[in-house]
Amino acid sequence: MIDLPAHAARAITLLEDAGYETWAVGGCVRDSLRGAEPHDWDLCTAAKPAEMQAVFAGERVLETGLKHGTLTVLTGSGPLEITSFRADGGYSDGRHPDGVRFVPDVTADLARRDFTVGAMAWHPQRGLCDPFRGLDDLQDGILRAVGDPDARFQEDALRILRGVRFASQLGFTVETETAAAMRRQVGRLSCIAAERIREELTGMLCGRFAIRALRDFSDILTAVLPELAPMVGCAQQNPYHLYDVWEHSARAVGQAPAEPCLRWAMLLHDCGKPACKTVDENGVGHFYGHPKVSRDIAASLLRRLRFSGEQTARILLLVEQHDRPLGDSDKLVRRRLVQIGEGRFRDLLAIKKGDAVGQGTHPENVAELWETERRLNEVLAQDACLSLRQLAVNGDDMTALGLHGPAVGEMLHRLLDAVVDGTLDNTQQALLAFARARMEEQNDQ
Ligand code: ATP
Ligand code: MG
Repeated sequence: MIDLPAHAARAITLLEDAGYETWAVGGCVRDSLRGAEPHDWDLCTAAKPAEMQAVFAGERVLETGLKHGTLTVLTGSGPLEITSFRADGGYSDGRHPDGVRFVPDVTADLARRDFTVGAMAWHPQRGLCDPFRGLDDLQDGILRAVGDPDARFQEDALRILRGVRFASQLGFTVETETAAAMRRQVGRLSCIAAERIREELTGMLCGRFAIRALRDFSDILTAVLPELAPMVGCAQQNPYHLYDVWEHSARAVGQAPAEPCLRWAMLLHDCGKPACKTVDENGVGHFYGHPKVSRDIAASLLRRLRFSGEQTARILLLVEQHDRPLGDSDKLVRRRLVQIGEGRFRDLLAIKKGDAVGQGTHPENVAELWETERRLNEVLAQDACLSLRQLAVNGDDMTALGLHGPAVGEMLHRLLDAVVDGTLDNTQQALLAFARARMEEQNDQ
């Protein structure tokens, strides 16, 4: 039994009263049946686009998807996507259906969907429509392609990554034949737009079962992220690490908060290690300079996947600085805060914790990070001066002392450094005296 939200139930009633069979379909049915809260509700209907428009005439709708058969009704409870029963035509480019063919019945519509657990429909009176035994697969935790798996992945290779994403989000096992076909067809992902690949990979990285998905599908993932292939099986050979670089990174991803930039940074933080690896005379592995190399590899990967400038900057900072200490004294914590701000500081804490736990050795490193976090919270609670804006003097005060041009900014930064280091009080009197003394020193030289 599925509890339909009122906005979906109302739309079903409106369409059916007008004579068009209508069902809830896809992810919302899957998620309801497994006891999870659906994030949105999709309907499919026998009504053709123009007929849907007529039923919802006078309501707020979006018509952008109409030529593919989708009308979006904007309800007070969020957008509701309603799609005419359709079968996809061929996919000669492996990406877009050549044409949309509207079909009269729901079973034909379900047949075009990718995985059986997403190919079920629900109706408040008629109950479940499940021609591909999706419920059995849902109960067994299995992802199985609808119909011939090779054909389905040939039609649309993005489904391969959707499969990996669903495995990561749902913790399901990909059925053997489906997994084999995903691997056979992986080359076809080269014709999929970078943005769509990025979105599926991001969903996969943020899944609850990301560690397992990264481990089970390293071959598929490195086929779309070839820069990362050398990580798989790259032994670390040192006392700080139990795992190879890929397994370590997978564990680190699983430890980090499920936020896209943090998870991407975790995946990429050590990608430069294989290129930097040396083994000393005792057989111990070293990776000198790897954060910088990781950063460079990550930069080209993120550019290829068309990440925004803002996300790229955030991820690259984390990759580049993941190995740098954050500060084991209040003074060092304040200095770092001045450099990177609270948000990036907390990002780095999360990344360093993920890294430390992912190493599988030295739990004291994790404890140290808890200590740094405590220190950070304390420093922030002290309302310490951490930016030029918070100084008790400003540029006008420096001009009044006789400084001009770039010397004004330079002096303010020197004042801030001294305040942050705790050698100078943040009072107007102390700051002006300090500035005057520095100016006199300069004049004496
Ligand atoms: P979620 O929204 O949680 O990511 P979902 O299963 O709802 O999962 P959507 O991308 O919202 O996925 O798509 C809705 C439904 O449309 C899916 O359940 C599936 O039946 C079908 N679908 C979406 N994309 C494809 C595709 N590329 N190939 C075949 N069917 C698809
Ligand atoms: Mg959905």
